[in-house]
This record gives sequence, structure tokens and C-alpha cells, in this order.
Amino acid sequence: MERAKLKDLGFKTRNEALTFLKKLWLHGKAECPICGNDLEPLHKKAKKSDCNWQCKNCNNTYKTIHLLDEINEKLPY
Ligand SMILES: [Zn+2]
Repeated sequence: MERAKLKDLGFKTRNEALTFLKKLWLHGKAECPICGNDLEPLHKKAKKSDCNWQCKNCNNTYKTIHLLDEINEKLPY
């Protein structure tokens, strides 16, 4: 599994990127920005609010805390 990097995800704006993270944090689900498959928690017994996710279709992991750092660095206000 590869950790997905912000630049791989194709977000054009900060808002778009944050909307993706918020879906995971608030609703516990989102589609993979790369392939459109539903993301699943990285660890089987994780709670809905867990911050690490995976896409079993394209084998990427999403660590929302890391992505947030990247968003702040590369897509600042
Ligand atoms: Zn995917």
C-alpha cells in the first residue's frame, strides 16, 4: 500500500481538498479521489472517526492528518 500524496489526488482548490477530509472526519465515508471506490478504515476495528483510510481498489492509504499538513503547505489560503 502506498500513502496517497496530495498531488496525486487532483484537488484544485483548498476547499475541494478539505471537503474530502471533512467527509471522512464527519461522515466516516468518502470516495477515493483517485479511482472513485469507497474508502474503508485502515484498521478493521477502527472507529468511524479514525483518521487513517484505505482504498482496496487502487491500494492507496489516506492519512488525513498528513494530508491536512500537505494542504496547509501547498494549498494555503
Ligand atoms: Zn482508489
